[in-house]
Amino acid sequence: MISERIPRLLRIKNSGVECLICPLLMEEGIPILCARQIQGLHERRKRSAGGSLVNPMNLIPACNWGNGYIENNPAQIRELFGSILVVREGDAEWEGLSSRND
Ligand SMILES: [Zn+2]
Repeated sequence: MISERIPRLLRIKNSGVECLICPLLMEEGIPILCARQIQGLHERRKRSAGGSLVNPMNLIPACNWGNGYIENNPAQIRELFGSILVVREGDAEWEGLSSRND
């Protein structure tokens, strides 16, 4: 539920964790413009595809730029990272990340 997402995001923000997406992109040689702070949660299985908004396995703390990069370059991200960042139907984790399990 969306209402559970806000306290979760605040907890992450207060924990000192920084964006977890951009360091991965940087390792692959992608020039990053990371905000170095958590501005949202990347959904590995997108909510529009029935992905959970509360399962921690589906959510990766990210800055807006990092999250946007994934959204805008899905083919490249799949090629570089397999299902680590983007989970699609047919992947082993697909069912487990469904919002029906919330
Ligand atoms: Zn970032």
